[in-house]
Amino acid sequence: MGKAYKRIKGFADMFPPQSDHFTRMEACAREIFGRYGFVELRTPLLEFTELFQRSIGEQTDVVQKEMYTFPDRKGRMLTLRPEATAGVMRAYIEAGLVNREAVSRLFTTGPMFRYERPQTGRMRQFHQINCECLGSPSPLADAELIIMLMRFLRALGLEEPSLKINSLGCSQCRPQFRKALLDFLSGIDRSALCEDCARRVESNPLRVLDCKQPTCRELTQNAPVLLEHNCPDCKAHFQTVLDCLAAEGIPLELDHRLVRGLDYYCRTTFEVVSGRIGAQTAIAGGGRYDGLVQSLGGPDVPGVGFACGMERLALLLGEARTDLTDFYLFAPDEAGQAQAFALAQQLRMAGLGGELNYSRASFKSLMRQAGKSGARYCLILGQDEAQAASVTVKHLERGQQQTIPQAEAITYLTTEKNDD
Ligand SMILES: [Zn+2]
Ligand SMILES: [Zn+2]
Repeated sequence: MGKAYKRIKGFADMFPPQSDHFTRMEACAREIFGRYGFVELRTPLLEFTELFQRSIGEQTDVVQKEMYTFPDRKGRMLTLRPEATAGVMRAYIEAGLVNREAVSRLFTTGPMFRYERPQTGRMRQFHQINCECLGSPSPLADAELIIMLMRFLRALGLEEPSLKINSLGCSQCRPQFRKALLDFLSGIDRSALCEDCARRVESNPLRVLDCKQPTCRELTQNAPVLLEHNCPDCKAHFQTVLDCLAAEGIPLELDHRLVRGLDYYCRTTFEVVSGRIGAQTAIAGGGRYDGLVQSLGGPDVPGVGFACGMERLALLLGEARTDLTDFYLFAPDEAGQAQAFALAQQLRMAGLGGELNYSRASFKSLMRQAGKSGARYCLILGQDEAQAASVTVKHLERGQQQTIPQAEAITYLTTEKNDD
């Protein structure tokens, strides 16, 4: 016996129902996003490391500790994408889309890689659905994107996705907020903050607001509020987003703690949470990032986008209904094999799905396998049937059986199928 190999920690094999969930999520995304003018972009899983250092930020945990980075055979540093946006921006710039269309709406789906401690719902290879709308500063773009995301989640059958939203302001008004926040933070006992926050006070003060530690939250309870520091333009922009969402009946909660760490994030920022896995978990998040394309060497193009975690979403979708197959066909002995093989192909051509058993086990064992197959009908092609060009059809649940000409099998199964 050879060595039995194991999968890498944090990497999953996906069987039904999880793989069914993933297929359904992707199909649903294609359908709903397509109605909003989004087209699918597929970017490589590997990019030059520098791209992520620039776009995600040198000082972030992702870049510092969580990337799968290695040199290729020529010593160039490459990274397995830890998120989708950077690659999408790179592709958008490289293809010169800005010269071809005023607004580009791109979605992408697939695996991302982060070296994190594996836990439930968090894998080292995880999957996301990403949407990016590039080219418009309009609040209508923000609103449509959010409405589309909520419709997508409802279409999947997610019962109560709830939307949290905030506005981060712009390069005009955020510096003033930052200053007010720093003033506030200088007045609190830094040693009472958690380790991450103590560090963030210097490097990334906004992130102190979204810390989940109860003590940090308590200490920052009276921190200045972003929305109150928004300039008139930012206020008007945000109000339009809120009005559009209200007009579409999308319930939302203003969340003053919702922030993003990097400078190019601005104005609308949002998160969708669901309460069904233990504590509330974020299943999607996004916002506006007007300076990102330019920071990556592209034109000054505004953008808004979101990412949706597929593993977490799959947990919420529960047990998928796996459709019964139509038939389980076997020929217990040599005489019926060739006819069984041909009949199975004809049934598939007619749109019926099922399994052909290749073995020559005992009749009893074959019947047992048919019973376990989840098929609607068992089709038996024994010696007698082979001679008469017939087939015995047994309804596995009801137990009725009858022998019919092979030529009538398609009609028999499809008619019955429609009756169910
Ligand atoms: Zn502003
Ligand atoms: Zn903290």
